[in-house]
Amino acid sequence: MATGAADYALITGASSGLGAEFARQLAGRGYNLILAARREDRLEALKAEIEALPGSTKIEVIVSDLSTEDGPQREAVSLQCEECREEVFKYEFDATPHPDADTISHPFPSLTVSAKAMTDYNSATANRTCPKCGHVNAPFPLRDWGWEAYVDQSATVHDGVGALRDAAGQLSSD
Ligand SMILES: [Zn+2]
Repeated sequence: MATGAADYALITGASSGLGAEFARQLAGRGYNLILAARREDRLEALKAEIEALPGSTKIEVIVSDLSTEDGPQREAVSLQCEECREEVFKYEFDATPHPDADTISHPFPSLTVSAKAMTDYNSATANRTCPKCGHVNAPFPLRDWGWEAYVDQSATVHDGVGALRDAAGQLSSD
């Protein structure tokens, strides 16, 4: 999915097959990339491969492990410096769905948490300043691919579901 306006492309399942090929093709057309997949080692290998090509594609990597149905789901968001590729931001979190998670809240808990982390990252220049080269990185393009709206909407839904759950608990205990 290309977000034309900002020249950023988000590619999910980017660690292999078609996703990896899309990443190469879009990098070749000058897009900056946001790569998301479960396998961090493969994402990093692909990132290194594309970075070795001519051009100045910016690559951001999101490790999203939705494959684990049992136990905590460890996920992480990592951003690299636009200038020197040093990691300027890493946010690790437990994206384990709520036990009662349903089709409303289950599919994207990691996106919600990630987007909030990115909002924090954007909020202060110090957060985006590279510790290695001092470059002040641009804010993460949340708005360009709809994360801001998604976070607002999902927070509203989450609150509504919580209120219904509480009300149902009240009724069953009365
Ligand atoms: Zn740097």
